[in-house]
Formats: sequence, C-alpha cells, structure tokens
Amino acid sequence: MFEYINFYKVHLFFIFMTEDCIFCKIAQGKIPEELIYESDNFIAFPDANPNVKGHTLIIPRKHYVNMMDMPATLGRELMDAIKSVADIKLKQGAEGFNIIQNNFPAAGQVVMHAHIHLLPRKKGDGFKSI
Ligand code: AMP
Ligand code: ZN
Repeated sequence: MFEYINFYKVHLFFIFMTEDCIFCKIAQGKIPEELIYESDNFIAFPDANPNVKGHTLIIPRKHYVNMMDMPATLGRELMDAIKSVADIKLKQGAEGFNIIQNNFPAAGQVVMHAHIHLLPRKKGDGFKSI
C-alpha cells in the first residue's frame, strides 16, 4: 500500500514539475524558440539573456532536474549535441567556446531543468570564465 502511495507521489511530483517548467514548455513546442540543433533526446536554442554573442542552451527534451538526475546512457548523445552546436558556432566565426553547467541553486542553477551553456568566444571579448 505504501509502495503505491510513494509511486503516485513521485509521479505527481514529476507531472507538477514538467507542467510548470519553462524548458519543458520549450521542448514540447508550447513556447516557440529558434532551434539551433535537435536530436532524439536534446534540443539547443539561444539563451534569452546572452552573456556573449551566440550564447546557447543545450537541454534534454525530458525533464531532468540537473546532471545528477540524467542517465549516463545519454552521455554520448549529449557529447554529440555539444560538439554539433560548437561546430555551428565555430563555422559562424567563433574562435573558441566554453561549456558551463550549473547544478543545484548553490552552484547558480536557476532553471531546474538540466541544461548546458555553450558560450562562443573571441579573443579579447572580455568575458571572464574560470
Ligand atoms: P542557470 O543559471 O544555469 O539555471 O541558467 C538558466 C538560463 O536560462 C539563464 O541564462 C537564462 O537567461 C536562461 N533562460 C531562462 N528562460 C529562458 C527562455 N525562456 N528562453 C531562453 N533562455 C532562457
Ligand atoms: Zn522541465
């Protein structure tokens, strides 16, 4: 009996999170975004408040809270997504790029749907990374 209650609690939590999540709405096409890249499990679109020109977010289509929540089996496809977006930005004139990924509020995560920031860079652009 308690197992059933826990099962429903977990699923209700998941439904609540995805209904309320801005990145889920983008992934489901409910909020239109210019998609820079898409694959079976990932999409990429411009950050609404870019830190540098071309600042892009790569997100899983499914709601995972952060990297700890994502299955490692998605790792290969995620690497492909990062490299594909980086390739597009390098072809558009970027000279380098940073990838930044915030996990949990203490590390600066504001949107609780896992995402990777890809920041195209140019020599002397003034952006301070680590
Ligand atoms: P983080 O601090 O790692 O959680 O970063 C969240 C990022 O999502 C910020 O850089 C925001 O500018 C960006 N962001 C929030 N809402 C949107 C949106 N609707 N479309 C694009 N980017 C967004
Ligand atoms: Zn979400």
